Amino acid sequence: MSTGSPVGSHRVVSPTGVLPQAADKLDSNPEIAENEVRIRVERLNLDAASYRQLHTAHSGDGAAIRADVLDVIERRGKMHNRATGSGGMLIGTVDAVGDRSPLGLKAGQKVATLVSLTLTPLHIDDGLRHWDGLSEQVPTSGHAILFARSIAAILPDDLPEQVALAVFDVCGAPALVRRVVARRAAHARSTVAVLGAAGKSGSLSLAAARDARAATVLGVVRDDAEAALLRAGGLADRIAVADATDPLGLAETVSDALGGRGADVTVVCVDVPGCEHGAILSTSTGGTVVFFSMATSFPAAALGAEGLAADVEMLIGNGYVPGHADYALHLVAADPALRELFESRVEGER
Ligand code: NAP
Repeated sequence: MSTGSPVGSHRVVSPTGVLPQAADKLDSNPEIAENEVRIRVERLNLDAASYRQLHTAHSGDGAAIRADVLDVIERRGKMHNRATGSGGMLIGTVDAVGDRSPLGLKAGQKVATLVSLTLTPLHIDDGLRHWDGLSEQVPTSGHAILFARSIAAILPDDLPEQVALAVFDVCGAPALVRRVVARRAAHARSTVAVLGAAGKSGSLSLAAARDARAATVLGVVRDDAEAALLRAGGLADRIAVADATDPLGLAETVSDALGGRGADVTVVCVDVPGCEHGAILSTSTGGTVVFFSMATSFPAAALGAEGLAADVEMLIGNGYVPGHADYALHLVAADPALRELFESRVEGER
C-alpha cells in the first residue's frame, strides 16, 4: 500500500499540478492508499445551485438530468457541475480504512462526508437507476474515497438519514453566521437579514443569528407561502417578501423592514444567480455580506460593491468552520419548528 498525498493530489489525472477540487478528472480507483478511506456510497446530495441549474438546463426532464449527472461522474471521476462549479456531499458506510488514515473512522460506520463532491473521487456502479432525476438527493451505490485531510461525520441516531444529509450539506452556513454575528456583538448587537430564509441554509442561518444574540433577525423570502412557513415556525423576528435578484426592490424591502436602515449582516442563501447587488445595497455601511450561495459571482460582488462605493465586508461562505456539523445538529435539535421545516423540504424534494 502506498501513502497518498494528504490533500489527494495523487488522485488527480488532469491537469497535473492542481488539487482535486480544480481537477478536470480524478482517479476513482477503489484501491486505497494507506492514509485513505473508502466509503460504500448510498446517497448523494447534489447542492441546491447545481441541481437547480441541471433542472433548468434540461427543462425538468428527470431522465435527461440523470443522464447528465451520470455522464459527469463517469467523465470526471467526481460530481462536479461544470456550469455552477459546485457539487454536494454524500452518505455511505465506511468500507475500508488505510492503516495510516488520521480520520478515526472504522469499517461499518455510517457517515456523511463533509467535503465537497467536487473533490471526492467517486464511482457509481448502478447507473443511477434508482433515481428519477427529480430530487437533489440521489439514492445510488458505488464507492468514494476520502483523503487524510478530508472530514466526515458519523450520522446521528435521532435524525432520519435524508434530513441529516440535508443539514450537513449546508452546515457551514450557521457556523459562519454565528461567528460573524458574535464578533460584531463585541461592539453592538446586529440586525441580520437572511435572503432565501425558508431554504435549508437560510433557516439554519436564522437560527444561528438568534443564537448569536442578533438584535433583529429578518427573513427575506420569495413569496407568501414561504413567509407563512417562517411565521408559523416563529423562525424570524420579521419577515419580508422580495425577489433577491431585484436589487432596488430588495434593498427597499429590507430597509422598510428594518426601520429605514440596511442590515448590519446580510446572508445570501438563495440558490439562483444574480443576488450580489441586492445583497450589497441591503447592507449598511460597515456591515458584512456573507455569500453562502454557490451561485455567487466574484466579479459581480467585487465590482458591484466598488461601483456602489459600498464600504461593506464581503465573505465567501467557506463550507468549513470547526464544529460546524455538531452546531447545525444542535440547532435542529433545539428547535422543533426548524426540524419540521427541514423534514418538509426533504420530503418535498424526494
Ligand atoms: P434551498 O434549500 O433550495 O434554499 C434556497 C431558497 O432560496 C429557497 O427557499 C428558494 O425558494 C429561495 N429563492 C430562490 N430564488 C429566489 C429569489 N429570486 N428571491 C428570493 N428567494 C429565492 O438551498 P440551500 O440548500 O439552502 O442552498 C442555498 C445555496 O447555498 C445554494 O446556492 C447552494 O449551492 C449553496 N451552498 C453553499 C455551500 C458552501 O459551502 N458555501 C454548501 C452547500 C450549499 P424556492 O424554494 O421557492 O425556489
